[in-house]
Amino acid sequence: MTKEIFPLPIELPDSHYGHESHLCVAAAVGFVKNNTEAYKNYIRDPKHVCAECGRAANSADYLCEPTEI
Ligand SMILES: [Zn+2]
Ligand SMILES: [Zn+2]
Repeated sequence: MTKEIFPLPIELPDSHYGHESHLCVAAAVGFVKNNTEAYKNYIRDPKHVCAECGRAANSADYLCEPTEI
């Protein structure tokens, strides 16, 4: 199985700046499913929640529309 890397080692066209490092896209590319343990490091002790999809993360850099919890 191919191991997905996150942040994604690609630039995503037609999306906002930094979207390749947003957890919002992580599930869609299979990162969460294939790297659940690594994913936990991004959401542990969450400080921000995405206003668009509701995902939580410990850094605003990982979310599309971060708002402080
Ligand atoms: Zn989101
Ligand atoms: Zn995004």
